[in-house]
Amino acid sequence: MTLAGDVALVTGASRGIGEAIARDLAAAGAYVVLGYRTQQRQAELVVADIVARGGAAEAVAIDVADAAMVDAVVRDVIGRLGKVDVLVNNAGVSADALIVRITEAQWQRVLDVNLKGVFNCTKAVARPMMRARRGRIVNLSSVVGAAGNSGQAAYAAAKAGVIGFTKSTARELASRGITANVVAPGLIATDMTAALDADARAMYQTMIPLGRLGRAEDVAAAVTFLAGPGAGYITGQVLHVNGGMYV
Ligand code: NAD
Repeated sequence: MTLAGDVALVTGASRGIGEAIARDLAAAGAYVVLGYRTQQRQAELVVADIVARGGAAEAVAIDVADAAMVDAVVRDVIGRLGKVDVLVNNAGVSADALIVRITEAQWQRVLDVNLKGVFNCTKAVARPMMRARRGRIVNLSSVVGAAGNSGQAAYAAAKAGVIGFTKSTARELASRGITANVVAPGLIATDMTAALDADARAMYQTMIPLGRLGRAEDVAAAVTFLAGPGAGYITGQVLHVNGGMYV
């Protein structure tokens, strides 16, 4: 129970990687606040299951692209629970389109959720963490943010931006005992990648030396490590969880 007594906020936690992160942090002893945008019922089912397994959690509505809402939720959580020790910026969307086809609205949405959302949530917890002189921030990027990908320019730009933003956060907040790191998943089997057809899936699989798609739990284990006491001297780093797809 390495996170016993900690309060962790995970965005986009009603399903997929965010759900697995919430479950893993709760199993490590944290009280987990699961942020959801629209899937309240799904988030509450995950909370109920965490509680049934002896953990502690709650679900709250947070649209990470809405700075005012993020501020209000963080104030409410700190008012009730006293602190946020761990922030996991997991919420993300993709809108795959070639550069010549992507619309300005698609571009903006991908940047608003994947990059501005990380900024909004980090800004909201920064002062309270600084006052506490303690905090762990883990941001989800992607193999695509490091390597690029045809048809994913907006997503790649946002996810590369997350890496630069996290390195700056790490430098800015280190003197207050706060670490900030990135977990960059490769191809993980979730709803986000479910739309890939069999050919694309088989093609990607040949690019993964470990020979399989990742599981959400593979990513969650890396996040829990970075949130835990064993990672106290690690900051500004990118931990790739990709089966060797990008090295
Ligand atoms: P997913 O689509 O299953 O889950 C994303 C979650 O984010 C959903 O619960 C969704 O409701 C939530 N979300 C979307 N917009 C939001 C908003 N504005 N505010 C709050 N929540 C919002 O995707 P996933 O595969 O679980 O991805 C989780 C994270 O991992 C994302 O940041 C994604 O970019 C990243 N990632 C995923 C993969 C992969 O292969 N699945 C690879 C690399 C990186």
